[in-house]
Parts: sequence; structure tokens; C-alpha cells
Amino acid sequence: MKKGYEVVIVGGGIIGNAVAYYLAKEGQKDVLVIEKNYISSGSTGRCAGGIRQQWDSEANIRLAMGSVKIFEGLEDELGFPTEFYQGGYLLLAHTPEHMEWFKKRVELQRSLGLDVRLIDPKEAKDIVPYINTEGLLGATFCPTDGHANPFYVTFGYYKKAQELGVHYLIGKEVAGIEVRESRIRAVILSDGSRVEARNLVNAAGGHARDIARMAGIDIPVNPQRHEILVTEPIGHLFDPLIISFKQGIYFRQELNGGVLMGYGDPEEPWSYNVRSTSRFLFNMTKKVTEVMPILDQVRVLRQWAGLYAMTPDAQPIIGGVEEVEGYYQAVGFSGHGFMVGPKTSELLAELILTGKTSLSLEHLSHKRFKEGKGKIEKAVI
Ligand SMILES: Cc1cc2nc3c(=O)[nH]c(=O)nc-3n(C[C@H](O)[C@H](O)[C@H](O)COP(=O)(O)OP(=O)(O)OC[C@H]3O[C@@H](n4cnc5c(N)ncnc54)[C@H](O)[C@@H]3O)c2cc1C
Repeated sequence: MKKGYEVVIVGGGIIGNAVAYYLAKEGQKDVLVIEKNYISSGSTGRCAGGIRQQWDSEANIRLAMGSVKIFEGLEDELGFPTEFYQGGYLLLAHTPEHMEWFKKRVELQRSLGLDVRLIDPKEAKDIVPYINTEGLLGATFCPTDGHANPFYVTFGYYKKAQELGVHYLIGKEVAGIEVRESRIRAVILSDGSRVEARNLVNAAGGHARDIARMAGIDIPVNPQRHEILVTEPIGHLFDPLIISFKQGIYFRQELNGGVLMGYGDPEEPWSYNVRSTSRFLFNMTKKVTEVMPILDQVRVLRQWAGLYAMTPDAQPIIGGVEEVEGYYQAVGFSGHGFMVGPKTSELLAELILTGKTSLSLEHLSHKRFKEGKGKIEKAVI
């Protein structure tokens, strides 16, 4: 390890690795990534790998559309498999309020160039024959949404970043950050060693608030447990990832046949707890079989949990801050950081290298909270 680096990145999830890769790709190879556990040990390695562009806010739609473009060519770019598969996302509406909301969203999404349409229950059933259409009023479908393997994508970025000259410190924890005269100077590791840094990227996922605090910055990012399970592999049943806002669930079939599913529990407090519960197992299986009754016959293989990094408006915080020069962050993804990870990371690297971005990050700035400008993203599950 050298005495210092131009950019030190805290966190070895999709964001940390992808930012490192895009920096190195653009010529900045004096980069160190510090990961306290192992690559993908945080939310990235626990996530469902879903990639959807059907969001409420323009910022999220643009980030997701930009990321899908990158995902489409990522295997070739990184020389590593990603298991990217565009089977679409089918979003179900069971109430007139949800239908109204869907109509407005589709209008905005189409105005931004997304291939998405409002469909009736019959067409939803044509796309997913096993779906229960009782009480279903309509749905939206975007065929270019899909999913990818979070481990493969992250390892692809990791491997390529290393090939380009990025350095890694794995199994080392950042315990402090030195700021002098309002500028990032160094990070201090838990073993007491010190690494000088001109710039620091906070990519610490559910722990992002702790890292920001070390630099004297308060960010409204809170960790919240999110549970998930996968069934035994079964024959091919359906292509799209399905979201039911009535049940508050999502589920999709993996390429190996297992069905992955999860839901956001509104009762879940902020905490670092990632234990699994029988409550989730019972609720999840009950809810999913209401939407697709045939899954009643399938056995659960495994369940686990990870952290959503929640912000007050359920949108990420991306960019620098006014208080500390050289501090950058891509945090608070509120459950959708994998799907927007590629474009977000490319833009953050651009910001660090040039001081500006080709796509405005204004709506996702840290200062939006102070200015009361946050717009709540309602489509989070
Ligand atoms: C169950 C579940 C399902 C999800 N499903 C989806 C989905 O379908 N699609 C989607 O887009 N998103 C999904 N998400 C959200 C997604 O996983 C995250 O938004 C995304 O992975 C965030 O990536 P990251 O790199 O910012 O954070 P992480 O992957 O959490 O990486 C942060 C890393 O920082 C490290 N770290 C923390 N503190 C320190 C320190 N002090 N020193 C050194 N290292 C440190 C951690 O060990 C960790 O590896 C899901 C999340 C969960 C929990």
C-alpha cells in the first residue's frame, strides 16, 4: 500500500467497485478501495438483482435508463458474465388510485423515451399466464426492464478495475477521516494506520451515515432491514419481475428456476439488524400465493436479509457537499442502488474528474434536504 492516493473509496459493493472502474477507465488510476469484509458482502450481495426503469421521479427514471444502456453492453465491456436478462417488469394495480398513479407515471416515463405501456388484465395474463387476475384493474409493462447477477456484475467491475491499476484493501475497516481546513486529508483504519487521500468517496451502503459522520457531515441515511427468500429451482413459469403494490411485494424467477421474492415491512425500525424471521417467511409466502397461486406447491430453499439505506424521500444522495472539499458520496439508494449503480458510478467518476456531470444530479444533491426540495419516490417496495 502506498502512503496516499488521489481517490480513496470506502465500500466494496457495486458502487465502490464501479466508481473505481470508471475513474480508472478515464485515466485516474491512483485509486484505493477499502472494504471491511469482502467484495459484495453488503447489500449488493444480498439484493434481488432487479433492474427497473419504471420509477416515479425523473431523476430515478433517467439513472435507471442510463444504467440499462450500460448493462446491455457490460459483459463485453468488462469481459465478465453478468447474467443480464431483459424479461421485463410487470407492475400490478388493484385499486382505482393505483390505476390513476400508473397512468401519470407511464406518461412521464414515455415522455423520457421509455418503452412502457399500460395494459389490461387480459394482456397481463397473456404475459404471465399463472397470474391471479381477480380484482386486478390493470398493469404496466416495460419489456427492457430485467435483472442481473449482483455478484457477477460487482466482480466484473472489481476485476477490471484491478486490471486497470486500482488498488484494494480488503478486510480493513475505515474508523476515522481526517479533515483539515474543510478538506479531506486522510482516512484512519481500525488498526491505527493512516492513508492520505485527496478525495474520498463514501460508498458504504447501509453504513454511509457513519462514514459521513467521521468527516463531520450529517446525512439523512438510515439502515433498514429488508428480507428476501428463494425457492427451490422449478421449471420456467414466467419472465418478468412482478410487483404488486396491493400486497407490497416483488418476485421474479432466476435463470436457474428458483423464485426470488421480498417485501418492504413498514413496521421495520431503523437498525443494522440483518437476521431472518419466521414472520417474513409466513407473510411472504401468503402474499405471493395470492398473486400466483401455483407457487403454493413450491418449497422455500433459503431466506436472508440485508439493509436498505433509506433517505427521507427514498431517493439517493449523489455528489459532493459544500462543507468539505474532496468529499463525495453515492448513498441512500433506498432499495434500488443495484439497478442505478452503473450510471450513478459513471456520473460520480465524471464529477470527481471534471467537476461536472453530463446528466444533472441537482435533484439528488445533499443540499435538497436543507432547501426542502426532496420529492418522495413512491414506487419503492
Ligand atoms: C433484500 C434486498 C433486496 C434488494 N433488491 C434490489 C433490487 O432488486 N434491485 C436494486 O437495484 N437494488 C436492490 N436492493 C438495494 C441494493 O442492494 C443496494 O441499493 C445496493 O446494493 C447498494 O450498493 P452499495 O455499493 O452502495 O452498498 P453495499 O453493497 O452495502 O456496499 C457497501 C460496502 O461498504 C462496506 N463498508 C461499510 N462500512 C465500512 C467501513 N467503515 N470500512 C470499510 N468498508 C465499509 C460494507 O462492508 C459493504 O460491503 C436490495 C437490497 C436488499 C437488502
